[in-house]
Amino acid sequence: MLSYSEARQKVIEVAGAIRRPMRRETIEIEDAFNRTVAAEVYSDRDYPPFDRSVRDGFAVRSSDAASAGARLECIGELRAGGKFDGVVGPGECVEIMTGAGVPQGADAVVMVEYTKREGRTITLDRAAKSGEHIVRRGSEAGEGSLLIPTRARLGYAEIALAAQAGATLLEVFQRPSLAILSTGDEVVEARKMPGPLEVRNSNGISVQILAGTAGAKPVQLGNAPDQIGAIRSGIERGLNEDILVLSGGVSMGKYDLVEQALADLGAVFHYTGVEIRPGRPAVFATCRDKLVFGLPGNPVSTMVTFELFVLPAIDVFSGAVPRPLPIFKARLDTPVREKGALTHFLPSRVEWTGREAHVAQLRWQGSGDVVALATANCFLVVGPDRLEMELGEMADVIPRRGAI
Ligand code: AMP
Ligand code: MG
Repeated sequence: MLSYSEARQKVIEVAGAIRRPMRRETIEIEDAFNRTVAAEVYSDRDYPPFDRSVRDGFAVRSSDAASAGARLECIGELRAGGKFDGVVGPGECVEIMTGAGVPQGADAVVMVEYTKREGRTITLDRAAKSGEHIVRRGSEAGEGSLLIPTRARLGYAEIALAAQAGATLLEVFQRPSLAILSTGDEVVEARKMPGPLEVRNSNGISVQILAGTAGAKPVQLGNAPDQIGAIRSGIERGLNEDILVLSGGVSMGKYDLVEQALADLGAVFHYTGVEIRPGRPAVFATCRDKLVFGLPGNPVSTMVTFELFVLPAIDVFSGAVPRPLPIFKARLDTPVREKGALTHFLPSRVEWTGREAHVAQLRWQGSGDVVALATANCFLVVGPDRLEMELGEMADVIPRRGAI
């Protein structure tokens, strides 16, 4: 059986080897959050486009300000966006605001806080060095330089950079579509009243949200009962999309029929179990050149296995570089006592007290316990080599997406 990192690697390999056209579309920057760049963005001009003052103060010749106490004559004022036609000569300065272009002749800015003014005479309380508080034209990006490479995921900073370069229309890859099919005789739609032995479908919505925030376009297929024909036809519908995610029906029970239905349709299995808890029965297959994930139906298992295995597939199919798992270290506030040579993902809370992250495992009733997961903001990751750990030891943690 594969470890979780081997299984992730397998997903990335298989998804990368599938031949499918990477379709592009052009969209407005307002709609570009989380999308993947298909055509790189270049700087349309030098940035900054002029030598820019980054302080309010006085533009001076540094040779006039080699030591504190220099007295200069103020010959004008420059506001952001303003133009100054003259040249700053020896013994002269120009009052300047943040964001204004440094006038000819000046090569330093002295902050207003370090000056005294009497009429047109400005006394500098400090010396100034050449270039001080000036960002030179083109020093952030030269005209024509690459700002955003292809395959980059567009976050707010990348989108701000595109706006700076006037790239208000962006060419991005189309989002992969992801079909969601839950299975189970006992599963009813969340808007319906369940019978005493039924449960509401929470996986449908959690997978939809996870898929959407990861960068896929979710397509909701509802729930199939535990009947081979119903599951098969649900899968066939799901194979119209790029990725199919099923929940439930992959364990060893008599009515866990997802693997059988996939096999009937000619699926090739890449793994049918991963050394993790929760989520051990997770299945990954390809069928008719589509990716199929069979996630265990217990809601915490579904969410953990989505994060671990489906997310990298969405990255690859989005044209993006697969995101690494953001593992960090935190000091244990509760001891760890786990069993089973598996990697455990335990709902936990991390808090930053002082300069250190502290993590405490939450009480939970196992992989069906959404109450515990909703209280958790992270997972404590306990590997098979360290199943027992003491209070105060450093442990691995991954954030719960969106909770930190
Ligand atoms: P399974 O993986 O089909 O054996 O299901 C394991 C557990 O998860 C059972 O207790 C199911 O009732 C529960 N479960 C399965 N599918 C869902 C779902 N869509 N929403 C909420 N719970 C589910
Ligand atoms: Mg089931």
